[in-house]
Amino acid sequence: MRQKIVAGNWKMNNTLDEGLKLTSEIVNMVSDEVNTDVKVILAPPFVYLTQVKGLIKDADKISLSAQNCNDNESGAYTGEVAASMLASIGTEYVILGHSERREYFEETNEQLAKKIDLALKNNLKPIFCCGESLEVRENGLFKEFVSNQIEESLFHLGEDELKKVVIAYEPIWAIGTGKTASTEQAQEMHASIRELLAERYGAEIAEEISILYGGSCKPGNAPELFACKDVDGGLIGGASLKSRDFVDIIKSF
Ligand code: PEP
Repeated sequence: MRQKIVAGNWKMNNTLDEGLKLTSEIVNMVSDEVNTDVKVILAPPFVYLTQVKGLIKDADKISLSAQNCNDNESGAYTGEVAASMLASIGTEYVILGHSERREYFEETNEQLAKKIDLALKNNLKPIFCCGESLEVRENGLFKEFVSNQIEESLFHLGEDELKKVVIAYEPIWAIGTGKTASTEQAQEMHASIRELLAERYGAEIAEEISILYGGSCKPGNAPELFACKDVDGGLIGGASLKSRDFVDIIKSF
């Protein structure tokens, strides 16, 4: 049975007080209202990780994620954060390859492969993001594009390593735009990703990997997206900043 996951990526939002209030609300609502077997992940900015960790420590359904890590072990990289540092403060997951990182910070598939390795080496579970732009969607080569992202960043991993990775399919044209992929579009791509994993690692392992959908996921559309056979949950941006919306998305399973 694949792990169902809803992860909230706060991006560069919230002051400390706002972030802790949001966390407390989510902790209380999840405890009172969520009785399904779902993993909830909060990904606040680096500076709040320790405080958020303090608030979720007794919430067994809720885990902590960072939004990025550097592709070097340590050293003279001013302003950067290493995977080992995240692990040392009790972070469990790390989002890697978000389209905003790829676009604004020019992260490449090759660089992401190095980040994946460092995350795994430090016992962090990567949430690996992939997805195509509108231009690629419209030229029809979106499956090839996403396959290439996955092959170049993940396919050097052994089976046991791959099993620790969560994949998030996030069509860039749907992120923060209010446009969501249709259930058919989401299911088609998720099935294609699972097929790709099966070709490389075998069907049994492909069946175990959680593949999340991301892109304007909200309480209104989450139930139908999460009902798709190969959609195992969501990576949520905007709607993760409102506790009610985020918890309603979690309750969509
Ligand atoms: C995201 O950035 O990962 C995302 C899915 O954002 P939004 O939910 O706001 O589209």
